[in-house]
Amino acid sequence: VALNVAQPAASPTETDALVIGAGPVGLFQVFQLGLQGIQAHVVDALPYPGGQCVELYADKPIYDIPGLPVCTGRELTERLLQQIKPFAATFHLGQEVATVEKMAYGRFAVETSRGIKFHSKTLFIAAGVGAFVPRSVKVDGLDFFNHTQLFYNALPPFDLGGKHVLVLGDGESALACANSLAQVGNPLHPQRPASVTLMHRRDSFKASDDTLATHHALRASKQLQFITAQPTGFAEHNGQLTGLQVVDSDAASHLLRADVVLAFLGVSPKLGPVAQWGLDLERKQLKVNTEDFATSEPGIYAVGDINTYPGKKKLILCGFHEATLAAFGAAARLFPEQPIHLQYTTTSPRLHGLLGVVPPTV
Ligand SMILES: Cc1cc2nc3c(=O)[nH]c(=O)nc-3n(C[C@H](O)[C@H](O)[C@H](O)COP(=O)(O)OP(=O)(O)OC[C@H]3O[C@@H](n4cnc5c(N)ncnc54)[C@H](O)[C@@H]3O)c2cc1C
Repeated sequence: VALNVAQPAASPTETDALVIGAGPVGLFQVFQLGLQGIQAHVVDALPYPGGQCVELYADKPIYDIPGLPVCTGRELTERLLQQIKPFAATFHLGQEVATVEKMAYGRFAVETSRGIKFHSKTLFIAAGVGAFVPRSVKVDGLDFFNHTQLFYNALPPFDLGGKHVLVLGDGESALACANSLAQVGNPLHPQRPASVTLMHRRDSFKASDDTLATHHALRASKQLQFITAQPTGFAEHNGQLTGLQVVDSDAASHLLRADVVLAFLGVSPKLGPVAQWGLDLERKQLKVNTEDFATSEPGIYAVGDINTYPGKKKLILCGFHEATLAAFGAAARLFPEQPIHLQYTTTSPRLHGLLGVVPPTV
């Protein structure tokens, strides 16, 4: 499903609702807000929506979504994106919400790790187990080269022709990236790098059979180098990274030449920012009431795995219910003069208008 991806804006984006987290519950929150006539912006640290469903078990089956006897994590995400399409939420992906501050007139100032700013009247924290951020290379000082010569889970925005490229990782993305850069005549990289080396602490990988077969063929033809080693330090010249100091499986130390390091070490959840927004927590979860899933700060709601209340169960189904009541709560807050009636999507012409559907007459 094509996403409505945000364009850079100079001034803060004014919005009625901002959803933090594009996991299944954050996505369904967009739907329920849409039914209340509230348009939302959505921020996620991952470069794609789906949260745990896509990051942790994309191809595994889920059996307890009402009305869907079985679907994979990825399928559920695709279906949710399809369902929320009429509400045209704007997605801001690949960035964490770093700060949340209370402003005058019941609004909140929010800023992401990429400096995108929002002024929102309501916030929906659907942050699950925390922001999924790339696992970093454990070498002191190396992060200085982040986005210039060190890239996480992505290719750099410049051509790698003639450069010595070091790829770190043992998963599908690390191997696929190394394979693609090492292949002579790859139309995606007409200018071949000077060298492509894959490094991992063991000579065993978690990749598909096809990717592994290509990997071994490229190693055999010496188009791709492989080293069993771990990084311990780095070398630089005039502020430019020139290589990584590594220790190999025989405990020998080497300096590996590298103009660019591409790290595919997976992601790990980081609760970090959510815990610093001054909201009441209980064992690292946000405390909410079960009437509208508001946190200790009026106007800020918490739904899905991030919240806690008596009887809480960390299930997608429960998160969907929470998102529904949070949307009713937000509607009452945003439109205090209007009575908020329960309407059915089957029969309500207002909801049909919002969904952009014309149901058949029977
Ligand atoms: C292996 C496995 C199998 C499971 N199977 C089932 C099942 O069969 N049925 C079931 O009901 N549940 C299942 N679950 C649990 C289910 O996946 C979770 O309950 C569900 O994903 C919670 O959804 P969520 O939207 O609350 O959070 P998440 O899916 O965790 O999504 C939260 C999103 O918020 C983002 N985020 C967090 N903080 C920030 C921030 N500061 N800035 C920007 N983005 C942020 C994260 O990057 C993430 O993408 C399973 C879980 C696992 C691990």
